[in-house]
Amino acid sequence: MKVAVLPGDGIGGEIMAQAVKVLNKLALPLELEHAPVGGAGYDASGDPLPAATLALAREADAILFGAVGGSKYDALPRVKRPEQAILGLRKSLGLFANLRPAQVHDELAGASTLKPEVVAGLDVLIIRELTGDIYFGEPRGISMRADGEREGVNTMRYRESEIRRIAHVAFNAARKRRRKLCSVDKANVLETTELWRQVVSETGKEYADVELSHMYVDNCAMQLVRNPKQFDVIVTGNMFGDILSDEASMLTGSIGMLPSASLDAHGKGLYEPIHGSAPDIAGMDLANPLATILSAAMMLRYSLNHGVVADRIEAAVRQVLKQGYRTVDIQEAGRKKVGTQEMGAAVVAAL
Ligand code: NAD
Repeated sequence: MKVAVLPGDGIGGEIMAQAVKVLNKLALPLELEHAPVGGAGYDASGDPLPAATLALAREADAILFGAVGGSKYDALPRVKRPEQAILGLRKSLGLFANLRPAQVHDELAGASTLKPEVVAGLDVLIIRELTGDIYFGEPRGISMRADGEREGVNTMRYRESEIRRIAHVAFNAARKRRRKLCSVDKANVLETTELWRQVVSETGKEYADVELSHMYVDNCAMQLVRNPKQFDVIVTGNMFGDILSDEASMLTGSIGMLPSASLDAHGKGLYEPIHGSAPDIAGMDLANPLATILSAAMMLRYSLNHGVVADRIEAAVRQVLKQGYRTVDIQEAGRKKVGTQEMGAAVVAAL
């Protein structure tokens, strides 16, 4: 199994080194090949997504991605900016399904801005469609009307096949968890999402073992802060998913803990922490590597068919948190403050 390892910029190299340590500890036939991406790609070859990096990503079975970006690159034209690498990879590899779990480990329930009893033990997975919807629909633009007033237009658009393929991803993910799926739409107002609801319901007939429910997006936004533990898997379109997945991630209060996956139609995926390159702490051995380590676990579960090994990594992460290891972002009084490398070593020891 070949993995493209793309550390990127800022803290990317530091956190990726810990995930690689963890992967190397597992007795798996993994071939890890590194390549530059983002600002590092631009520095190496004048392109945030160098051709050799894209070729490696194409031939690999999965991609482990760190983070990209830095102020050094802010003045570059948009197409040369580090963040273009992620968009380029998504587009070139057809990564249409974004999976973002938000888990609250009991030990970290105090880090949330919500009451600990509301979030302790939370484990919700948000699945967002990534390549359709109002973000890509045509026509779009700002134009001048005949009456001299400017008008902005975007088009919300989903084809049946696009809805069906994300629904399959969601039902299959629910099968690997507690078998509850909530599809989120605005079917009372928007025809596009009325179709969404119909197609998800039709697809659900193939998954009688998964309990399907539907919820309007405004209600879902409210329920996520009122009683988030009612959810197992949520599936929704690009724009609603963009907003709800950020809302759900903040329920946990710890950006350094959350992994994500973007999958294609065949289960190949790009796995990355949800946070950015954190230039404010780069090179200081302060970054929390757990989101990247948990991204590697997701990679083993969803692309490399090693769910049992993924469970072991997640158990090792729970153990180091129980043992009191804390990086600066999740620091609490009375806990053992560690740096990036020591946190990685603790996970390896727990394994
Ligand atoms: P950020 O996520 O990099 O940082 C936000 C805050 O969280 C910072 O204070 C940072 O120190 C802290 N933080 C982030 N990850 C952490 C970790 N693992 N451990 C401890 N603390 C952590 O977001 P930002 O500051 O808005 O953006 C910085 C750069 O990252 C920008 O160039 C931005 O474009 C880029 N970015 C990249 C991605 C990506 O690669 N997918 C995502 C978001 C932002």
